[in-house]
Formats: sequence, C-alpha cells, structure tokens
Amino acid sequence: MLSTIIVGGGPGGLGPLVWAAQQGLLPDWLKRGIAVIERQDHLGGTLGRFGIQSDSLGGSYLECLQAAGLPQALQAIREDPVAAEMACYADSFPPLQLVDRFMRRLGTAMAEILGEHSALHLGTEARSVRLRDDGAVVVETVRDGGPARRLVAHSAVIALGGRPFWPADDLAFGLSLGDCRVQYMMPSDRALSRAGLEEANRLLGRAGGRPVVILGGSHSAYSVAGALLDLPAAAGLSPRQILILQRREPRIFYPDRAAALADRYDVEPGDICPRTQRVNRMGGLRGYGREMWRQITGRPRTTPEPRVAALPIGGLSRDELRQLIEAAAVVIPCFGYRSATLPVFDANGRRLAFSADQDGIAVGQDSRLLLADGTALGNLFGIGLGSGYRLPASMGGEPNFDGQANSLWLYQNDIGAVIYRAIHDLLAAPAAAA
Ligand SMILES: Cc1cc2nc3c(=O)[nH]c(=O)nc-3n(C[C@H](O)[C@H](O)[C@H](O)COP(=O)(O)OP(=O)(O)OC[C@H]3O[C@@H](n4cnc5c(N)ncnc54)[C@H](O)[C@@H]3O)c2cc1C
Repeated sequence: MLSTIIVGGGPGGLGPLVWAAQQGLLPDWLKRGIAVIERQDHLGGTLGRFGIQSDSLGGSYLECLQAAGLPQALQAIREDPVAAEMACYADSFPPLQLVDRFMRRLGTAMAEILGEHSALHLGTEARSVRLRDDGAVVVETVRDGGPARRLVAHSAVIALGGRPFWPADDLAFGLSLGDCRVQYMMPSDRALSRAGLEEANRLLGRAGGRPVVILGGSHSAYSVAGALLDLPAAAGLSPRQILILQRREPRIFYPDRAAALADRYDVEPGDICPRTQRVNRMGGLRGYGREMWRQITGRPRTTPEPRVAALPIGGLSRDELRQLIEAAAVVIPCFGYRSATLPVFDANGRRLAFSADQDGIAVGQDSRLLLADGTALGNLFGIGLGSGYRLPASMGGEPNFDGQANSLWLYQNDIGAVIYRAIHDLLAAPAAAA
C-alpha cells in the first residue's frame, strides 16, 4: 500500500513534497510510496490564467531552492533562466505569468523525481475517494476516458485548488445580488484572468457614465480595481466611477510598526505578528492591491487615484445599494475562495458531507479535512487555495487575523510541514506498520 496519494499537483499539492525535499526527507517518503494525481499534463498549478502581478515578493518563490540537501533535479532550477528572471523580482512583485512558469519548472523537476518511482499520474482525473474499513484510502481515477483505476494508500492529501465563493447571506439590508437586475456580472476569478481583463476593457469602453461596482473589501477587490485601472479604456473613466463597496476596511501589510505609522496607518497590538514583528503579516493587503489602497486613501508619497472610491456598504441605504448595482456597467463580486472538493464515501458507500461542500472552512488542526459536523478525518488532508487553514500561534501571524492563509510560501513551509508530520505519525502507528 502507498503511504500517500496527493490529489492535485498545483502549488498546494506540491507544498508538502517541497517541504520534505528541503529537509532531506523526500527520498525516504518516496520509498514508502507516493502517488501524485494531476489532471493537467504538467505539475505546477493554474496561476498562469491570471493577468495580474503576484502579491508575494519574487524572493519568496526562490527560497525553497536554497536548502543544501535538495535533490539534484530541484538544485538544477537554480541555474535555470526562469530562476534568474524571478531573481530580478527578488524584492518586488513578479507577474503571475512568471510565477506560473516558475511553478511549472518546479513541477517538471518534481515530476522527474516522482517519475523515477512511478509515482506520477499526469493527465489523470481523480473522481472520488473511498475510506475503507481497515483505514485505507482508495482514490478512483480515470485517464483519457479509459477504465477507472484505484490507488490505495494510508493517507491522501486533497489539493484541487479553489472555487469562487458565493456567500449565502445578503449583501446588506436583506438585499442579495439575486434581488437586483444586474446588467453584467463578472466574478473576480474571471475579471483577473487574461481573457476577463480583455472583456473588462470592452465593458469599460462602453460604460459611459455608469459606475463599475466591485463588491468586497479584500485582496481580490483591490487587485481588481488596480487591474481595471491598468486597462487602456480606464483612461476615459471619471472620478469615483469605480466603486469598491466593502463591509469593513481592509487590513494592510507593513514590514513593521514604524513603517505603518510613517504611512499614517493605525496599528493595534493584535495586528503585529509576534514571530516577525510584521504588521498584518497574514491578512494584510500586499503588492499592487496594497498600492491601490494607498492611492485611494491618499497615503504619503502616492499619486491620488480619483477614479476609484471605497465606500462602506452599510453607509448606503437599501435603495441606494440596489440602484448602484442595477446601474452598474459591470458588477464584480470579490468574495474570495473556498476549496474545490470531490465526492468522498465511507466504507458503506455513504457519501460524506464536508464542511467545504457547505462553504465552510475545509480543514482543521493538522490540516485534516473537516466533515460538516466539524469532525476531522484522521487520514484525509487538505491544502491549497480556499482550504482555510487557521495558523496556530506557534506559526506566528497577527492575533487579529481571522481569514484564510492562502500562500505558496506557507504551503512549502509551515503547512507542508504540518501535513508531512501528521502523515508520518500515522505511518508510525502500529496499524499502518503492520
Ligand atoms: C488571483 C490570485 C492571485 C494569487 N496570488 C498569490 C500570490 O501572489 N502569492 C501567493 O502565495 N498566493 C497567491 N494566491 C493564492 C494561492 O497560493 C494560489 O492560488 C495557488 O496557485 C493555489 O494553489 P493550489 O494548488 O491550491 O491550486 P491550483 O494552482 O489551482 O492547483 C490545483 C490543481 O489541482 C488539479 N485538479 C483539480 N481537480 C482535479 C481532479 N479532480 N483530479 C486531478 N487533478 C485535479 C488542477 O488541475 C490543478 O493543477 C493567489 C490566488 C489567486 C486566485
């Protein structure tokens, strides 16, 4: 029986493997049996569809190549032109296109390592998971419409990426988007894609005096505003034509308290990460979204951006909110992500209801998948976009952070480590060793 099946070969799924590689633990894990199932023909994920900049520094992507004992295939990336290109962004924000090329290169190296152990299943779709009575996990896969195949392991990591979140509750005052006659809706996942930005450019060109309404006040909302302003058609927008309607002010990242105060940003003690002293290390806006916020709010040394305004949604009346939404040339909901899931059945063939299926957070302690009733499954783990892992105090992060930790660096470091250790604790248990 395999030790672990990793379902999804994006940055999330690769995270525990990259962590193990950095610690020199990957060869032994491979000897115990790993399978990676990925429906694309490459490892590295899906970030290439986005037409914006990363909000992580280029240096954070290169960090995983620094460990001394890396397998040769990963060491070779240090000399690759894509690493040199990324190094040019060591202290700035690379385009996600470059991050995608870098992650694919990392994926190619990982594929080489996995291929030596027949552990790689590219072009293969995972269809379902079954939990056997004896504690084993069975993942059913298909490839090219062929017959179903089953892989059996002691544990599985589900890393299928995210799906745009659509909250069940109202926007405000009992008003939901479904109550409004929206002229054109484009969720942030689409708006930030290369094709979506082209479409947005056409919509802005035809907007006339109609507002462009962005719903939400977090990373995606400010990234969308910044991306729209970069479009050629945005030159014709009037002051306050792009409106960000938010429930609360976003939190902003700063390298330390002094930098925040110099930017006239009020810092509460709970905003500071005790491990790094950074302000809003986990939940703060970074990169271009952060610069957008700085421009809108007129921070020192910024050029004011009059075309965008951020308004508290609660400051409007119900009628004003409806009128704005209905008048908008385009409404862009930016409500974040939840984990993509696949059907999981118990030993009796009953489908299990997961918290993630009901738009809840996908994982609990040790990144184990949560059922809808909050119970954690012993040997099924989740990682990646939308999984909602809550960092324990030992990993740092600001105490005020109550959101999701969606970060490639965390997948390859703290969260990857947590999953690796939990999987290996299971393997050390007598039932697995037997
Ligand atoms: C617009 C945007 C910008 C972001 N920017 C950053 C950033 O700058 N820095 C940062 O750290 N994080 C960023 N993130 C957050 C997160 O780190 C990335 O989204 C990251 O790519 C998530 O990796 P993932 O593996 O969860 O998802 P994905 O990259 O989507 O990978 C999931 C993989 O699973 C595969 N898969 C899905 N279903 C199946 C199936 N049934 N069978 C087999 N394979 C399957 C897919 O083909 C895919 O390869 C960003 C997110 C978004 C949406």
